[in-house]
Amino acid sequence: MQKKPFVSFDKLKEITERYPTPFHLYDEAGIRRTARELKDAFAWNNGFKEYFAVKACPNPFILKILKEEGCGVDCASLTELKLAEALGFRGDDIMFSSNETPAEEFEYARKLDATINLDDITHIDYLARHGGLPDRICLRYNPGGELLIGSVYMGQPDASKFGMTKQQIFSAVQRLQQLGVKRFGLHALLASNAADNNYYPANASILFDLAIELRRKLNAELFMVNLSGGIGIPYLPEQSMPDIHTIGASIRETFGKQMSADGLGEVAIATELGRFMTGPHGCLVARAIHKKHIYKEYIGLDACAVNLMRPAMYDAYHHITVSGKEDALCDHVYDVVGSLCENNDKFAVDRALPQIDDGDLIIIHDTGAHGYSMGYNYNGKLKSAEILLHPDGSFDMIRRAETVRDYFATFDFCDLLKSVE
Ligand SMILES: *Cc1c(COP(=O)(O)O)cnc(C)c1O
Repeated sequence: MQKKPFVSFDKLKEITERYPTPFHLYDEAGIRRTARELKDAFAWNNGFKEYFAVKACPNPFILKILKEEGCGVDCASLTELKLAEALGFRGDDIMFSSNETPAEEFEYARKLDATINLDDITHIDYLARHGGLPDRICLRYNPGGELLIGSVYMGQPDASKFGMTKQQIFSAVQRLQQLGVKRFGLHALLASNAADNNYYPANASILFDLAIELRRKLNAELFMVNLSGGIGIPYLPEQSMPDIHTIGASIRETFGKQMSADGLGEVAIATELGRFMTGPHGCLVARAIHKKHIYKEYIGLDACAVNLMRPAMYDAYHHITVSGKEDALCDHVYDVVGSLCENNDKFAVDRALPQIDDGDLIIIHDTGAHGYSMGYNYNGKLKSAEILLHPDGSFDMIRRAETVRDYFATFDFCDLLKSVE
């Protein structure tokens, strides 16, 4: 299957006349469409809510779009909490799914009355001292073992640092009940970038079983089952998008059989999807600026791993399109590389592409989640701008590119910058 960019060559030319490359470009129409499809797929559940995983795309303009579509946010740090607060998210619009949480972050989350997702049993007393216990709380479960669905390997929970064992969940609920906590949520994230339609329903089923047991044995009052994130997207052209309606319908069936049959039909389903929501609706736009021929053919871009870390960090595949050459024959083989002094700074290795000429616009697909946000400043390279393409074809810069001044800002207590300006 051919993977098509969401932006045409003509539109991209127009955008690059106003904003220099590299930049991340986001498709507002696509983000809204996905948010609506998700909502529709879970419309059968009364309290359903998506808490967008802020770390996937922490831009306030993107978060505002998702807020308009009825989403809450899932935060994991003080900065993310403040970002949520600044955008008007309050109370149970906010999940706080952190781990190894510093005291001031719990305190701030309590101030906002966010729903706290407790990662460990020892955090009960820590939270009681720092911010105080709320009347509702979510607990993060780690079932251990291997996650197999049929014979498909999905992940290795027993090697994951997150969540509590089953026994700890039971002890935590008992202790929290004694301390006056009234209502409980359950959460688990057992796989990442799961392409299989069966992952989410399997996770749901594990949490439903736990909910029922907690209710039977401890008379726990449950308000939420949070399926967290983890649904994948088709990075490879031969993959297809997980079908959110099939996933929603499958969970509906299990919910009916397990939860409703046990008197838990009013429990709200929550999701904390990141990648699924915005991943396909962003791309990194860069320009080919150098061509190098040694033992292999290299195309050098004006972007580097600072702008998109996934290929260097996970050896992840990101599809590449040469804008304007969408239908040209892929009769060249290139390594498409960035400018870091690191040999893993390669967006693609041995990739079949059309002939690339200096100045060509290169679209690196599926950077809308865990793209810009994972960036860093190695080699003193600066993070790019972010541009939002609106449904009517107009576009705005929603974050400017970093400048040398930004890089110097954290040591501006000396006069270094003045001497080079
Ligand atoms: C990262 C994360 C998510 C989002 O994961 P995706 O793979 O982007 O869907 C959701 N919840 C928690 C707690 C996370 O750490």
